[in-house]
Amino acid sequence: MSIYSIWVLEYAYIPEMPLSALVYGDHNKGTCKLPYAYTLLKSDEHTILIDCGHDDAAYGKFLADRSGVVNFAAPRDVLAEVGMTPEDIDHVIITHAHFDHMGGLALFPNAKFHIQEAELSRWIWAMSLDRRFRWLMRTTDPGDILRCVELARDGRLVSVNGDREDVFPGIDLRIAADTHTPGSQFVVIRNDGRRESEDSFVVTGDLVYRMENLDGGEPADPFYRPVGMGIGSQTNMVFALDAIVEAAGGDHGRVVPPHEARLPERFPSRLTERGLQVIEVALADGATSFVES
Ligand SMILES: [Zn+2]
Repeated sequence: MSIYSIWVLEYAYIPEMPLSALVYGDHNKGTCKLPYAYTLLKSDEHTILIDCGHDDAAYGKFLADRSGVVNFAAPRDVLAEVGMTPEDIDHVIITHAHFDHMGGLALFPNAKFHIQEAELSRWIWAMSLDRRFRWLMRTTDPGDILRCVELARDGRLVSVNGDREDVFPGIDLRIAADTHTPGSQFVVIRNDGRRESEDSFVVTGDLVYRMENLDGGEPADPFYRPVGMGIGSQTNMVFALDAIVEAAGGDHGRVVPPHEARLPERFPSRLTERGLQVIEVALADGATSFVES
């Protein structure tokens, strides 16, 4: 039994990202493609996005351009590839507040947004600091933080405080405090609905960029190697990686990092006419594939 179909939907990418930014210590090792993507979970009951990408406008566009992002597609075009519209999304789980994960808040008019309380409050703190601390805010759009507060006023923000089980059937939120960001969270999908699941997937946000973060680049004798970008504790990041692997039942193949360019090698996928990947991680019982012709 599978409750959710799971698709990772690429909406833009950076063609040449320095590996050292993605895998800690990989200096002078060249570049790789860095996809920008969100993840769609679809059950009979719910249509959930994990993260919502950025809007290619205003300061979000400035940050994307500065990062070398190309081939942006809007959510309407990206979701059409799996037969959905932005209006269909009823919940968005925000892994963290960086612009490429939360900049699309305004593009999903019917959604409620779920974010860790520590994530939001610490970004407000970071915004209050003197200019000389602005490195902390380098990939965060203050406009997104303001929109979060507006969503709270409008009854559309769920402020999550720590770990939460079964926020939706079979879906757990796990906080990774003081890691990539102050209140990053990762999402565990127990697709058989069982507490001791034998069919779990973990969507990592930016706690994992590439599989080398899980195995250190030495699969025969693996070790945890944190991502190359973050403002929190590297030690906490290493322990978050262990929690992710444990939640995936020890199987690295069930860890789903949306920024990993090699996901199409692991899951059925399709390249759209726009040159963006649709990756089918799982299909719910009775659901139709959107990658097989
Ligand atoms: Zn990030």
